[in-house]
Amino acid sequence: MTDMRSIGILGGGQLGRMLSVAASRLGLRCHIYEPGAAPAGDVAHAVTTAPYEDEAALRRFAESVDVVTYEFENVPTSALDLIESIVPIRPNRRALAVSQDRQTEKTFLRDLGLRVAPFAAVDTESNLPAAIAEIGMPAILKTRRMGYDGKGQVRITDASATEWTGAPSVLERFVDFSAEISVIVARGADGQVAAYDPGLNVHQGGILRTTTVPCGLPARVTTDAVLLAGRIATALNYIGVMGVELFVTPDGLIVNEIAPRVHNSGHWTQAGCAVDQFEQHIRAVAGLPLGDGSRYADVVMENLIGDDLDRVPTLLATPGVQVHLYGKGEARPGRKMGHINRIAR
Ligand code: ATP
Ligand code: MG
Repeated sequence: MTDMRSIGILGGGQLGRMLSVAASRLGLRCHIYEPGAAPAGDVAHAVTTAPYEDEAALRRFAESVDVVTYEFENVPTSALDLIESIVPIRPNRRALAVSQDRQTEKTFLRDLGLRVAPFAAVDTESNLPAAIAEIGMPAILKTRRMGYDGKGQVRITDASATEWTGAPSVLERFVDFSAEISVIVARGADGQVAAYDPGLNVHQGGILRTTTVPCGLPARVTTDAVLLAGRIATALNYIGVMGVELFVTPDGLIVNEIAPRVHNSGHWTQAGCAVDQFEQHIRAVAGLPLGDGSRYADVVMENLIGDDLDRVPTLLATPGVQVHLYGKGEARPGRKMGHINRIAR
């Protein structure tokens, strides 16, 4: 067993909330650190509401826990430095640094021998024409940092009518994929690696809509996906759960991005596996053995976004449907309010 009692989580959104529930089932306590509203706070042992610049609050937080993890990858470096001077951070700082910046991330993946979409750094708007000439079109301009749910992205199909993202960016060639899949992979403190079955992801308006398992692709594709995810985790000396987003093309898999945390496309594991991604992450960061992530059901996960919430009464009455609600106040358009796992029978 672990001698850990308490886990600090940076970020208090729905991922932190589900991590906290999983930790409590293993007899562990979570302390959430979140500058804004914290749905995770409802189910945690302690919550600190303070900005990432508040050194006294960060110090108190770090001193109250045995290890710190995160559900949000854009925590400022200065806050991480302070926390790490007091308590270990898992997954490690390199995994965070690599995935915080799309340029660093793509360079790391390419250097590992994996395929990524052709890309070029575009630091200022004046560099854009040269990057378009190098990469070709259609292309997507993405901010290097802080992007999520397709935010900070501009499609470029006409070199004479471009928009600027307003921040240092990367230009990426548009990939003509046949499908999008993701692998949720876990690596324990002892180096043991376990991956969940790849899920098929459908996006709408840049936001994940559904994840389906099994993904329906041939074993050679899914095996490839799992192996490359394991390679990424091992290369980063990773401890915890990671999401690896992939494009399926006729020439093989292209890595879109990695997320150094539990991932929306892994929510199906709550209904499909004995040990879900949240528990797996808690086990890894607490130094416990990884659990059994093999899939025993076919599942479709669907996000409840904005006024999808109106469907909840019907969904609650539907057989085979597991409803998860995040306890967020206002159902704004595009806001993830919950999800369902529909178990096929
Ligand atoms: P999320 O938070 O949902 O992961 P994000 O803001 O980090 O999103 P990406 O994952 O880079 O953004 O892109 C969102 C979606 O846009 C992808 O899942 C894919 O559907 C589409 N997309 C992104 N890059 C490309 C590309 N190079 N070619 C084709 N489609 C792309
Ligand atoms: Mg993505």
